[in-house]
This record gives sequence, structure tokens and C-alpha cells, in this order.
Amino acid sequence: MKIETIAIQAGRGNDAATGAVMPPIHLSSTYLRGNEGDYIYSRSDNPNRRALEECLTALEGAGADACTFASGMAAVASVFQALKAGDHVILPDDTYFGVRKLVTELLGKWGLTHTMVDMTDLAAVAAAMQPNTTLVWAETPSNPMLKVTDVAAVAEIAHAGNAKLGVDATWCSPLLQQTLALGADYAVHSTTKYLGGHSDLTGGVVVARTVDDAWTAVREQQEFGGGVPSGFDCWLLLRGIRTLPYRMRGHCENAMKVAQYLEQHPAVHTVHYPGLPSHPGHTVAAKQMSDFGGMLSVQVKGGAAAADRVAGKTKIFWRATSLGGVESLIEHRAPVEGEGTQTPMDLLRVSVGLEHADDLIADFAQALAE
Ligand SMILES: *Cc1c(COP(=O)(O)O)cnc(C)c1O
Repeated sequence: MKIETIAIQAGRGNDAATGAVMPPIHLSSTYLRGNEGDYIYSRSDNPNRRALEECLTALEGAGADACTFASGMAAVASVFQALKAGDHVILPDDTYFGVRKLVTELLGKWGLTHTMVDMTDLAAVAAAMQPNTTLVWAETPSNPMLKVTDVAAVAEIAHAGNAKLGVDATWCSPLLQQTLALGADYAVHSTTKYLGGHSDLTGGVVVARTVDDAWTAVREQQEFGGGVPSGFDCWLLLRGIRTLPYRMRGHCENAMKVAQYLEQHPAVHTVHYPGLPSHPGHTVAAKQMSDFGGMLSVQVKGGAAAADRVAGKTKIFWRATSLGGVESLIEHRAPVEGEGTQTPMDLLRVSVGLEHADDLIADFAQALAE
């Protein structure tokens, strides 16, 4: 089946009790023993979460199983917490700032060691591999610089050293990149973003290519770490996923138009969008993604003050963090990331929504005007 069909059909089941075409929301925390169903307690499993996990497994193509969580960070944390003290991980030097904090500070205290590299430099990744490297972590396109990592090439390096490859593919969603088919062992998403798509829930997922002991350790983090999503959030997320393929088309089409407009604007000096031939990751993106996504970053002339001014002047692009919803958002990113950020001070991160592209371009035109 094609992905549009999978997004509608997967995890649908039916409600034997009522014949409801759309699933009910199960809020019960506990289930009768000896009942026909095999649920016991909601943290271990429940009908809404199981349907959601079935759907996400199917959407990832080469997926074997999925674990969902209460946030993207809980999903990421489950992969790292399933490792042992003394293990070594490699991660990108521009990784999402929450992941940087998790690995360097929170899990560093528990004995996890790490090396940060430029993941677009394959020789640097290979050189960073150690005998105790058990996980290579990538993020593509990266937040907020939109660096593109060659997933197949990094998978080869990780596997040659008996390490797993986990890829945070939040900015693609399963629609634009079949991360597991490219060779990754885990595809990770903040479902708060495109999968949910309406900025009204937080969630995360890890989808695995194979069910093995390492995966069992992630599943145990879900059940006993306990960072599980509510039945209502699972229901809402599955509702959002039904329209994901069509939403992604709109995001990609609009983002390309906005990127092309910004690239020729005299008040702008750099546009980071993998769909532009000028982008350093364009060739790799064209090889591994089916389209270039709805996220872009733009560096304006005039430094931090100019960036701040533009973010304060846009009217359709609301000034808020997060991304992947139907509405357009803009954010002056470096101050949000705080100390240690590598993000340029003149950079605006833009989540291009599903309004009409003409209106979005007109909004930038007035905000960038002197
Ligand atoms: C938002 C985001 C996360 C964190 O997800 P939450 O749902 O906010 O916990 C991780 N990685 C990337 C690339 C993100 O954009």
C-alpha cells in the first residue's frame, strides 16, 4: 500500500462493542482480569496506544515495532537510557539542544561518555568510533541549521563498529524520509511536530527496524521509566496522522516558495533550506528525502537586533517556539537555546504552515521592509 493509504488505514481496527468507525478514547487506567482483551494496566499497554504504535510502525516502512512516549525528549531519552554506564555515543555537534543537555549533563553523571562531531563529515564520524561505541546518533535535517546527514553512509560506519544508528527524523516525519529503509536502527520523532500537526499535544516515538535485546531495553524504559502518553493524546495523534501526507505536501510546497523569495531578498544574507540548490546538503537531501520539508532558517543582515525586529513584525508568522503545525511560526532561535548555543545570533527559525504561500511571502515582505 502507498503511504497515503497506510496513514488512513493503519491501526484502525474497529470497536466491537459499538461498531464505531472512529476509535473511542479509552481513559481507564486498569482492565478486568480474565477479560477477552489482553490489557492489564494502562502504563503497560492500552488500546489507543497500541493502535497508534501499529500505525507508526507501518508508516516507517521497514519498521518492526514502535514505542510511544509523552514527549519527543522522553522518546530520545529512552534510547540513551537503555545503554550502559561506560558506553560511548557519537552525536552531532549541532544536535537539538535538549539532546545535547541530556547526553552531556544528565546522562554524563550516570557514566555515559560521548564525542560530538560534524555528522556531515563522514571521516570525522569514522574517526570518532571507539571499541565501546554502542550508539551513533544523527539528526537530519538538523534543528535549527538544517544540516543534512547521509543516513545510509553513517549507518555503514556505525554497523562496521557494531554500534546502532538512531536518527532523529522529526523534521522529515516518516513521509519525507524512510529512515529505517536507509539503514538506521531507530527512527525517532517528536510527534509534537508534524505527526500531530496541530500544535495541540506533546509526544514522541521510537520505531525500530528489528526486535532484539537492545529494543527490549527500550520497551522496558517505556514501561518502567513510565514516560508514557495519555490515551487522549494517543487518540489525538492518530487523528492528526490521517492527514499527514496531504499536510506535508502543503508544507513542502509553501516552504520552497518562501525559501526562494527570501533567498533573493536584499535584507537576507543566507537561507538554510535543503530544497535550494545553494544548500550544502542539497544533493544528499535529494537522494534520501522525497521532498525538502516545511522548515527553514534565515539569517538576516543587521545581526541579532535585526532578527529580533523581524520576528516582532511578522503578523501571520506567530512568534513562538515549536514547529510542524498547520500555523506558521517564527523564532529568534539563539536566545532560546541560551548559553553554549552555536546558532548564529542573526538566525530566525521558520516553520512554514499551511496558509496560502502568497500571504506568507507578503508577510515577510512587510516585516523585512525598512
Ligand atoms: C522538538 C524536537 C525534539 C523534542 O521533542 P519534544 O516533543 O519537544 O520533547 C527533539 N528533536 C527535534 C529535532 C525537535 O525538533
